[in-house]
Amino acid sequence: MLLDPDAPFEAADIRISGDTIVEVGPNLRAQDEEVLDATEKLVMPGLINAHTHSGQSLDRGLVPSLPLDLWLMWVVYGGVKQTPDEAYTTAAAGALEMLHTGCTAVLDQAWIPTADFEAHSDAIMSAYADLGLRATVAAMVQDRDVYESFPLDLVPDHPVPAPLSRPEDPERLAEQVATFIDRWTGKREQLIPIPGPSAPQRCSDEFLARIAEVAAARGIKVHTHLLETKSQVFATRHRYGKSVVEHLADLRLLGPQMSFAHCVWLDGSEYKTLRDAGSVLVHNPISNVRCGSGLLPLGPLLRMGMPVALGADGAASNDNQNMFEVLKFATLIHTLYGDFRQWPPATQVWRACLRGGAAAIGQAIGAIAPGAKGDLVVLGLDRHALRPKEQMVTSLVMAEHGESVETVVVGGTVVLKDGRSTRVSESDLIRRSRAFMTRANDEFDRRKHIYGSAEALISAMLDEVTARDLPVHRLAAVDGFEDFEAPIV
Ligand SMILES: [Zn+2]
Repeated sequence: MLLDPDAPFEAADIRISGDTIVEVGPNLRAQDEEVLDATEKLVMPGLINAHTHSGQSLDRGLVPSLPLDLWLMWVVYGGVKQTPDEAYTTAAAGALEMLHTGCTAVLDQAWIPTADFEAHSDAIMSAYADLGLRATVAAMVQDRDVYESFPLDLVPDHPVPAPLSRPEDPERLAEQVATFIDRWTGKREQLIPIPGPSAPQRCSDEFLARIAEVAAARGIKVHTHLLETKSQVFATRHRYGKSVVEHLADLRLLGPQMSFAHCVWLDGSEYKTLRDAGSVLVHNPISNVRCGSGLLPLGPLLRMGMPVALGADGAASNDNQNMFEVLKFATLIHTLYGDFRQWPPATQVWRACLRGGAAAIGQAIGAIAPGAKGDLVVLGLDRHALRPKEQMVTSLVMAEHGESVETVVVGGTVVLKDGRSTRVSESDLIRRSRAFMTRANDEFDRRKHIYGSAEALISAMLDEVTARDLPVHRLAAVDGFEDFEAPIV
């Protein structure tokens, strides 16, 4: 049975030639192709994870729930500095987890250390090539120190913190990104290198303007974070003297080439500007709750025709890379506000994952139709009864974790068969992953130390942010309880 957002839910055959679906219909006659028998199974387009950070794939269970600005100290500045070999391992581990849980394409905003740009970026691309996952890799860099990106001015007489990163030359950094893109473009159809500046407030305008040129000259996409937290509204308003969305337009970084992760704290007119520009918004509901960032208005955004994709975000703010969990969470969390008749149903969230994800990546994926890439997931039906389409999708979104995933095809190639990778030794990868996780565990005290040195100033800043009102509200208000002073264990 084929389960596609726009096609009837019925039994049919799929013919793939090269990496593309060329025919879909009943009783197709096999020519000289390999035949994959999916009788009594369900076949759906592979899920699309439109925002993650591969370097965090094994950073799970070690990060406390913290507001993003403090979380950055744990994860980015306190995190283990990976070797290229370890970057390969973490990217491969994330890719394997995605394949096991029915995801066939990722937009990985991968942090690349500038001192080791080529080896590190090549390691990540090689991991995706080896595992067979379709990957758009957005080279994540920034040329400003993280402290410059915080609204520290809100804290009266605050100490001036020592920078946490060395200064970067914007021109040289843009050149490194451009070189990476040119080295990998066209090498493999499934791997797309693009720029991924970390966030506007973490980059200089000179660097962002150069990135806009690099992308325009090559006709490629750009991916970045945008207004994930309330503190970023204050930081960007203060810096630009206007909305960061208007500022991005000035820098030629609004348009259909852009996808923006998070977009929690935009106001109505900013969302409209993004929609009118044809940009894609990537919703990361688990990460946004894990870091207390807030909740964007998903239902209203979908109703206004905003292209919305879904992302797991890095494992350090999610703890896994399971897109079925993201689908379920996105379906559940938006029942906390608004008219119940307008809660986005599971079917709409699933469609957003496929359609929005395809738009963010810019390839013909997320569909079972002639012309689409042959990215398919075959699921067993032991855990799901066959039922009408809408309930079938709801059953997958609400009750599936990936246990039913049997076979995964990416670009017409079987990359997972009977639940095992056809490309790499999973036990070897587990051994490598364990070695890295042990090293990360051993550095726990160092992380605590780096976090501790930043905690007082950032906490004071967050208190100032909390005390101030904005025209938009994205955090829950729960009241009517006593605050008992029991110790938190
Ligand atoms: Zn992110």
